[in-house]
Amino acid sequence: MKLVLASNNAKKLGELRAILAPLGWELIAQGELGVEEAEEPHCTFVENALAKARHAARVTGLPALADDSGLCVDALGGAPGVISARYAGEPKSDARNNEKLLAELAALGPDASRKAHFVCVIVFVRHADDPQPLIAEGEWHGEILASPSGEGGFGYDPLLWIKECGDSVANLPAAEKHRRSHRGQALARLVERLRGRG
Ligand code: IMP
Repeated sequence: MKLVLASNNAKKLGELRAILAPLGWELIAQGELGVEEAEEPHCTFVENALAKARHAARVTGLPALADDSGLCVDALGGAPGVISARYAGEPKSDARNNEKLLAELAALGPDASRKAHFVCVIVFVRHADDPQPLIAEGEWHGEILASPSGEGGFGYDPLLWIKECGDSVANLPAAEKHRRSHRGQALARLVERLRGRG
């Protein structure tokens, strides 16, 4: 199957490609087909993922896969949530986002909960006006560290400590992250549904 991936985030694309490689799907990044980034004006992951997938399918005429994801921190009411990529404003910066998150949590005092989770919603549309998109979601729970740890991955990976792994996400081998992550879980569910549809 030939698919357009509705994302210009190189790290995210790399992860999606690595997870989907064994399925033999031909994934083409939307940027390679001249598709500009879609607006993400909505307040839920699923609405933004749908908007991105429909946009890529409309411009290319191909089936499209989109991922909208982010980090939700309990003590911050779910922030940064859908604005995870731009939490500290423009231009996008993982380092400034991480600094802002630590500052916001520190301002709540030492007793504030450090619980947080990554969310990933993946949407597949067969064409731009598909009335029945396939939607799958994954969550990955952990705790926010007091300071960043590790160089791997991207985004908030250095800040999320995963108890079962005894480490930050940024310190996990890539294959382990793909197997356990919100994105890995969402993709596995999506693939199951695609197979079910036949
Ligand atoms: P999106 O491109 O609008 O979906 O924004 C996703 C943002 O959420 C990224 O830029 C990161 O800040 C954050 N994020 C999503 N998935 C991950 C992950 O696997 N690790 C670290 N940060 C992530």
